[in-house]
Amino acid sequence: MTDMTRKRFLGLSAMTAAGLALASGAKAAPQAKAANRRLLIKGADLLTMDPKLGQLYGMDLLVEGQTIAAIGKDLKVDGAEVIDARGMILMPGMVDGHRHVWEGIHLGLVVKNQRGYSARYQDSKMKLMVAFTPEDNYLANYVGGLTALSTGVTSLIDYAHIQHTPDKADAAAKGLKDSGVAGWYCWQTSHSPTYGPGATIPLAQAEAERGASPEPWRYEHAAKMRDKYFSDSSAPLKFGLALSANVKSLEAQRREITRCRELGAGKILQHYHTPVDPPPGGWRGIVDLEAAGLMGPDLHFDHANNLTDEDLRILAKAGASTCSTVMGEFPYAVPPSHWRARAAGVAASIGIDVPIALNNDYFETVRAAFWNMYRTPEGAKAAAEYEPEDVLAFATTMGARALRQDYAGSLTVGKRADMVLLRTDRFGFAPHGSLAARVVNFGAWADVDSVWVAGEAKKRKGEMLGVDMMKLRQQQIDAQLRAEEVAKTITFT
Ligand SMILES: [Zn+2]
Repeated sequence: MTDMTRKRFLGLSAMTAAGLALASGAKAAPQAKAANRRLLIKGADLLTMDPKLGQLYGMDLLVEGQTIAAIGKDLKVDGAEVIDARGMILMPGMVDGHRHVWEGIHLGLVVKNQRGYSARYQDSKMKLMVAFTPEDNYLANYVGGLTALSTGVTSLIDYAHIQHTPDKADAAAKGLKDSGVAGWYCWQTSHSPTYGPGATIPLAQAEAERGASPEPWRYEHAAKMRDKYFSDSSAPLKFGLALSANVKSLEAQRREITRCRELGAGKILQHYHTPVDPPPGGWRGIVDLEAAGLMGPDLHFDHANNLTDEDLRILAKAGASTCSTVMGEFPYAVPPSHWRARAAGVAASIGIDVPIALNNDYFETVRAAFWNMYRTPEGAKAAAEYEPEDVLAFATTMGARALRQDYAGSLTVGKRADMVLLRTDRFGFAPHGSLAARVVNFGAWADVDSVWVAGEAKKRKGEMLGVDMMKLRQQQIDAQLRAEEVAKTITFT
């Protein structure tokens, strides 16, 4: 878009931008009340991901309330909404263990195959976070959550790292909640820039602020957010926290983890890499956490490419989890550790990390989990033993375990009804054979016909429910253009 068109566009769209209020979350589509809901999906091919059930062809599945109530042939049920799913594949909703959800509003602003990607990414992030209004943060997380759902991702962990004021943090929490996606909203406990629009500041100072220690007000506000948005323990979206951006000592970890636990954070995230060759007495990461008695199933280590065998043993013992961002890690020297974590009995998830920069089609991320194994000879050896179900497990059963959501992740009677229904009738979708082989290798975003979270439909017949797509698109463009204009007024020297 030329600058002229941009300006005209900004002028024209100012009214629509002003029209977006925090309370404007999409209304849920009319459906039976959760408790009385009965949904019967008939004749689907079920990729259950339950090892006992495997793949079931031409089967019915009944949802009652939020739960899968029955699986069988020709189920007869009174008063149920019936969906004819013959020829379609029903699978568990997918799971993303590490995503900066706000980026969903700015897809393509920076991309991996662009000169100086890393620096450009940080530069745009550090400017946009200041340029964003609370309304922008609401919209970003709302759109980001809807985007995930539309791709078949029903649960995710939002590593919320740009919301540096109380109202921005609140708006992001509300946006994600209103999107209807399940999982965790984990607010980072640090990084409050001192610069604002129009500022010129040294890059070194901006970088130092990014790596700052937690600010005490963050914990106080986290408690308020917990009570305001996450007090219902049965709601699909839950409260977690992320450690500050630059934790590099046991003392910092101890302080921050203890504080997060006192606040009741159910997931505690850290962008983590094990220190390489620490000096005697220096910080050793996970090994030190174990020695200090701080390990626990609430800890979730993101990226964590260079985990040692000892680290993995400790994680498995503690029930802690990891997330490998298998597409995002491609440019970096040390390949992801997801397959090693899985082999060691650790709940290993995969995640997109930077939806701003990568195709949000989550089937691509699933495939990347496999291809990435070929980056080392040991990984290639392990990959040769994989079946398609093993690849998909990172995004379903094992992913759910990594999110502490053992009650979801497979099509099993009694589990929460997080489900995705795929069309199979386009050219290029393998028409017959193993369901896992077809989905893992040929599945695409465009095939996602329907999505349910806890039994509630979010997408049907390829359309997101309760969403005015044209209006939302316009709000998104308006917010992007305005934020980008403001971001341009900030200069790092
Ligand atoms: Zn990240």
